[in-house]
Amino acid sequence: MGLLSKFTPDVMRDNVYCYTPDVFKKLGVDRVVFDIDNTIAPYEMHEPTEEVKAYFAALKEAGIEAMLVSNNGPERVERFNRDLGLFAVPDAKKPSPTGINKCLKQSKNKGGAVFVGDQIFTDCLAARRAGIKCFLVSPIQPKENLFFKLKRLGEKPFVCRYRRKTAKNGDLLETQD
Ligand SMILES: [Mg+2]
Repeated sequence: MGLLSKFTPDVMRDNVYCYTPDVFKKLGVDRVVFDIDNTIAPYEMHEPTEEVKAYFAALKEAGIEAMLVSNNGPERVERFNRDLGLFAVPDAKKPSPTGINKCLKQSKNKGGAVFVGDQIFTDCLAARRAGIKCFLVSPIQPKENLFFKLKRLGEKPFVCRYRRKTAKNGDLLETQD
């Protein structure tokens, strides 16, 4: 895989709710590893909303194993995960693939796997290094400081690459039927 591909997501959607159990099932995916911050909740939201709980309940119901991998510390991850009860790896140091690999190794399911995150340089690269697909979402609450603005700017070529790649025939979700 070329360097550019490592930073180019397979799919981009507005939020996790676009990735329904049905979407995963059609792709033969039965394991989904999620980033937490800005992917399923804003930084300052300590506990999952009812909507988040319902989403993970629906995945479970469909036989899809959901797991969490966060660069945030154990306190944040454990509190957020208390009601969800998922396998979770804090302090994952993405773009290192270690956290994702841990999830995949211990998972009961052994079918297709996908990572869902909001950042190209950490989440997408970590997924690629672990050898799985990357489904991106728009960050729930983009930070507005200079560092994050520069990072968004850096991500742009890869977002454009995804758009070019999928302009004609659509992305993975649109071409699966
Ligand atoms: Mg994030």
